[in-house]
Amino acid sequence: MDEDHDNPEYRPFFDALKRHELRFPQCNTCGRFHWYPMPACPHCQSSNLTWTKTSESATLYAWTQVCHSFAPKFDDRIPYIIGVVEFADAPGIRFITNIVDVAPEDLRHGMTVELCNDKGPIALPELRFRPSSEVRL
Ligand SMILES: [Zn+2]
Repeated sequence: MDEDHDNPEYRPFFDALKRHELRFPQCNTCGRFHWYPMPACPHCQSSNLTWTKTSESATLYAWTQVCHSFAPKFDDRIPYIIGVVEFADAPGIRFITNIVDVAPEDLRHGMTVELCNDKGPIALPELRFRPSSEVRL
């Protein structure tokens, strides 16, 4: 993902993260969201796009536990969980992220997860979600 930091199409996403916000591109013509960033809406080809703020709460769609090294710089994190999350207020977006503070056997399809934003500025690969406080109690 390091190369994404340098891609100007991603700049609004990373600038929003610095403000502890999640923003995704939304088309002003058809209203639909998309991810990854593109110069035009993949649904209607309009280039009239807005980076819309979403909630920090999402629904877990899928996940896997990584137990083998794929990138040496993340070896100290093994095992770790990669999840795909969806946002109720940004339908159509499935966002790949880290899932933390939960045992893999406790994960459930459809469970609510929330953005971890309690450790200062958020940056990849530190962007993480964890089960919502309601689930963890
Ligand atoms: Zn559109």
